[in-house]
Amino acid sequence: MRRIYNFAAGPAVLPLPVLEKAGSELLDFQSSGMSIMEMSHRGEIFDAIIKEAEAKFRRLMGIPDDYAVLFLPGGASQQFAMVPLNLLLPGRSADYVDTGSWAWRAIEEAKIVGRTNVIWSGRDKRYMTAPKPSQLRFTPGAAYAHICSNETIAGIRFPAFPETEAPLVADMSSDIASRTFDFRRFALIYASAQKNLGPAGMTLAAIRKDLTERCPDTVNVFFRYRTHISEPSLYNTPNTWGVYLFGLVMDWLLEQGGVAAMEKLNTAKADMLYDTLDASPFWRPCADKDSRSLMNVTWRLPSEELENRFVKEAADAGLDGLKGHRSVGGIRASIYNAFPAEGVKALVGFMKEFERKNG
Ligand code: PMP
Repeated sequence: MRRIYNFAAGPAVLPLPVLEKAGSELLDFQSSGMSIMEMSHRGEIFDAIIKEAEAKFRRLMGIPDDYAVLFLPGGASQQFAMVPLNLLLPGRSADYVDTGSWAWRAIEEAKIVGRTNVIWSGRDKRYMTAPKPSQLRFTPGAAYAHICSNETIAGIRFPAFPETEAPLVADMSSDIASRTFDFRRFALIYASAQKNLGPAGMTLAAIRKDLTERCPDTVNVFFRYRTHISEPSLYNTPNTWGVYLFGLVMDWLLEQGGVAAMEKLNTAKADMLYDTLDASPFWRPCADKDSRSLMNVTWRLPSEELENRFVKEAADAGLDGLKGHRSVGGIRASIYNAFPAEGVKALVGFMKEFERKNG
């Protein structure tokens, strides 16, 4: 068996102990004579798995009791639609911060539902910068405010989160469980699982329960948060395999020391890479220094030809997934929680050698 260093943006690397455990339990789960994928989502075994998964997530993230935790289908993309459908009240407006491609997708969905104010945009700066809280002017009386905490494509993040009068909603798909913050500042957070939480095909949402009451009855039953609260994530058949693996990832994160410990490791990993990028003009880091993501590090080389060679030779050396998103090109190293520090060290070593040969 040969495991590579996988820098892909998502689906992304999973902790090796999680894969090993899942492998060992694949054919006969807890002496049931079947795999987790083959059993009822309403049976005793899965019931315990989903309840424990939720409890561990609550512990990891410090989620208070007045918030519901949901396992939902449809990716973060479905949340772009569900948020305005549930929260954008008739006659009111919602504030959106346009930090990049993902924030923009959320804005497009909100515009279909109701009045949407884009109160800040990084588009003119090619989405390479995120706002400081002091730069944001939220609209008084807004139904809610929406941000994307980490933009996976450009590789930027909110250095600090704003305090808002309106309920604050965040797409945390690419940095959930990687940095500490005061959970109470948010009314709703959501994240696709395939970066920091588990396999693709499942989305986590944590929402303050009182907010779910305002959803109008004109919204289809399936798209109401309260539907999924009243039949806790079992209104339709959930991604049982995803929930199970998510639970194993929670075990792993808690064993590592939780989010604070991950943040320390993530900062050290990202610093190693940014220090290398800053040390020579051969490398051209994309994001503004103040907005640099700890999860997705993006940079350019002097030419596209060199970038293509870099990606290919890195893959040959066992460093895979470094090609930037197809919409922007360049190089992107995604170094989520489960990405090992040794992999970043290997990349830095490869970069020094590549620069010596091509610089
Ligand atoms: N938001 C962010 C920040 C993302 O990175 C992604 C996926 N890369 C999405 C939303 C969309 O997620 P999904 O494809 O699971 O709907």
